[in-house]
Amino acid sequence: MKLLQNKILIIGCGRLGATIANDRSKKGENVIVVDSNKDAFIRLDETFSGITFCGDATDLATLEDAYIKTAKEVVLATGDDNVNIFVAHVCREVYDIPKIIVRLDDPTRGVLFEGKRIKGIYPLELSVSKFNIINGD
Ligand code: AMP
Repeated sequence: MKLLQNKILIIGCGRLGATIANDRSKKGENVIVVDSNKDAFIRLDETFSGITFCGDATDLATLEDAYIKTAKEVVLATGDDNVNIFVAHVCREVYDIPKIIVRLDDPTRGVLFEGKRIKGIYPLELSVSKFNIINGD
C-alpha cells in the first residue's frame, strides 16, 4: 500500500501539528497523525488525505500501530517537552528514523540531544527573533 511508504509521522494534533499535517498533506505527502485525544483531529482539513491514530505516543504499541517502523520523518509536536524528548529518543535509538523534528518550549533542553538526525523547533526563540525584527533591532 502506497500510504505505508515514505511517510511522515506527526505526533500531537494541536495547532502546530495539525498545521504541519495539513500542509504536508496538501503537498501530496503521506501523512500519519497520532494524538491521545481523538477530538484533536477536528483541526485537520476536510481535504486531509492521511490517516489518524488515537493513542499515547509514549506507548511503543501506539507508535507501531502508526507504522513508525517505516517512517522517513517524525515530527514531535505535543505541548509537553518531556513527551517530545522521550519519543524523539525512541525514534532515534529504537526505530532508527533518519529525520526527527522536535518542538520544545524550553530551548535549553535542545542542546542536550540536537544532532545530525534530531532538529529542534523553539517557539520562544522564534517569537523573540520576530519581536526583534518588528522592533528594528
Ligand atoms: P498543544 O498543547 O495545544 O500544542 O497540543 C498538543 C497536542 O498533543 C494535543 O492535542 C494533545 O492531546 C497531544 N498530546 C499530548 N500528549 C500526548 C501523547 N503522550 N501522545 C499523543 N498525543 C499527545
